[in-house]
Formats: sequence, C-alpha cells, structure tokens
Amino acid sequence: EHLANQIAAGEVVERPSSVLKELIENAVDAGATTIDVTAEEGGLSLLRIVDNGSGIEPDDLRTAFQRHATSKIATGKDLFQIVTLGFRGEALPSIAAVAKVRCVSASDSSGLGRVLEIEGGAIKIEEDVSAPQGTDMTIRELFFNTPARLKYMRTVQTELSHLSDVIYRQALAHPNIAFTFAHNGTTLVRTQGNGDLRQVAAAIYGTAAAKAMIELSAEHPDYSIDGLVAMPVETRSNRNAITVLVNGRYVRSPAVVQPLLQAYHTLLPINRYPLAVLNLRMHPTLVDVNVHPAKLEVRFSKESELRAFVEQAVKQALGTQAY
Ligand code: ADP
Ligand code: MG
Repeated sequence: EHLANQIAAGEVVERPSSVLKELIENAVDAGATTIDVTAEEGGLSLLRIVDNGSGIEPDDLRTAFQRHATSKIATGKDLFQIVTLGFRGEALPSIAAVAKVRCVSASDSSGLGRVLEIEGGAIKIEEDVSAPQGTDMTIRELFFNTPARLKYMRTVQTELSHLSDVIYRQALAHPNIAFTFAHNGTTLVRTQGNGDLRQVAAAIYGTAAAKAMIELSAEHPDYSIDGLVAMPVETRSNRNAITVLVNGRYVRSPAVVQPLLQAYHTLLPINRYPLAVLNLRMHPTLVDVNVHPAKLEVRFSKESELRAFVEQAVKQALGTQAY
C-alpha cells in the first residue's frame, strides 16, 4: 500500500502545481463557493487550500487518504460518464505519501470536525476539533522524503508561475467561485465569484485587456461553446494565453486550439496567440477524459465536426467586431 502510494505519487504529484490542481478540483467537487489558496516558496515549503464546501465526515477522513477511496464513482458504468472532476481516488494518498499534510474538515455547520496529520504516509494525529464547514488542507515540505524529486524542482519563480497557471485556469473555469491566491504574503489574484467571466478575465489579464475581449457563443446539436476571445491586437507570445475548458475541465487540446488559431489566421502575427477562454460543453460520452493520468488531455469522438464548429464560432465572434 505504501509503495503503491509512492508510485502513484510519481504520476499524480509532479510538482507543487499538480498538488494545487488536485486539491482545487476536490474543493470544486465539494461544491465550494470560496477557495482561498496560500503558498510559500513556490508551494515547496507550504501550500494551503481552504474551501467552504461540503467537507468530509469525521469518520471518513482517514479513509479519504487511502488509495482508491474515491466517493465519486458509484458504479462501473459511471466511469464512462464522468461529471465530477476527480474520479481516481489517488490524489490524497499520493500527496500524503510525499509531504507533511494537515487536513481539518467539517461536514456540517455544527462546528464539529476532525483533524488528521500525515507525514510521508504515516498518520501522526487524528483528533476531533471544532471547525467551520469545509476543508482546510495544509501541505508542508513537499518531497521531503523523495530527495531525487525535490532536486528536480526549479526556482521559486518557475514553481510560482505554474501555481498561477493552475489558479488562472480554475478561476476561469469557475466564475461562480471566489478565488484568492497569495504567495509569500502578497495577494496575487482575487476573483469575485459572481459568475461574470469578464471580471475573472480582468483579475487575471488586467482590466483593459479584459474589456477588449469579445463575447463568443454558439450552439450545435452536439456541442455548445461560449467564452471570450481577444481582439487580434491583444496577443501574447505564450500559448497559455488560450484557456480551453471542456465540460468545466481545463484541457490541452490541439483539436480546439488549432481551429481557434485558424479563425484568426489572417489577423494574427506569427508566434502570437490571442487571449481566449473557450468553454465547450458536450455530452460526456463524446469526450474521453481518461487519456492521461494528469487528465489534461482528451480525445473527442467526432473531432473533425468539433474543429469545424470551433473555427466557425470564433470567426463569427471576430466577424461581429469592426476593426
Ligand atoms: P477523488 O477526488 O478522485 O475522489 P481524492 O484522493 O482527490 O480522490 O479524494 C478522496 C476523497 O476525499 C474524495 O472522493 C472526497 O470524498 C474526499 N475529499 C477530498 N477533498 C475534499 C474536499 N476539499 N471537500 C470534501 N471532500 C473532499
Ligand atoms: Mg480528487
């Protein structure tokens, strides 16, 4: 069991940002409306994620840190229709195998909760405590017991930029959730959680850039798309300018990015990317999200139709704008 956790950790926990991604996904799955993230030293010395979601029952807390202890798959058939973000039951045990974890959680507003502390997979403390409803996860000294992995970590600045990317994607994916992100005592991101995607874009890209973005919206029997795309003047040199969400999940998908760029084809200088947030919705059976363990890659069952749809939707949005 311990070995299995360490092996799984190698897959799930590549760097601080992968921990952050898993823990935010859990908070989202738990229905949180506020998610507050604190990091120190690029997340290597500390990562803390506090949510106001449904919390974990005191008697389930220990189990949540056991392998394949997911509460999210009821039947085998559910594997083919994944609606919640997490579904593998590997994140918590993997993280706890390679860090010092403190989790405080309460599943109702009675004030009764439980705290669990685990270091390198070994339980150190399990006690009842008073706690507000929700979950408060603190991850300290990531990779303290896997020096080879720790050595591979880059500068604080690099790890911070990976953390920021995760926050940006999650905030853009969930305009109804109020996110804060502070690093080494400085608040870097604060979204309102009022459902307004443009406000989230403003918190991330700046007010002027967000204001200049064009609304996009299109329907198809199999798909719907909405989001914001930039005027061709508002470009970046980095592919991260483009955020693709499929059924609420951030993915890396050439099948969406390429037709987007194709729509800008004659408007865009070479090696520039438009700021864009594309929110695609489709029936879960039309997309396979289980291609990669980090769940960033997807396969679409009707890819060429999807490509045509995306290109058309972006062209339409750009065409409604006189420039
Ligand atoms: P998965 O998300 O794939 O189910 P995890 O290892 O990430 O697996 O989490 C294990 C279980 O712990 C989840 O299924 C859920 O029941 C519970 N859990 C984890 N984080 C939270 C949270 N922030 N709020 C409520 N429950 C949580
Ligand atoms: Mg999870």
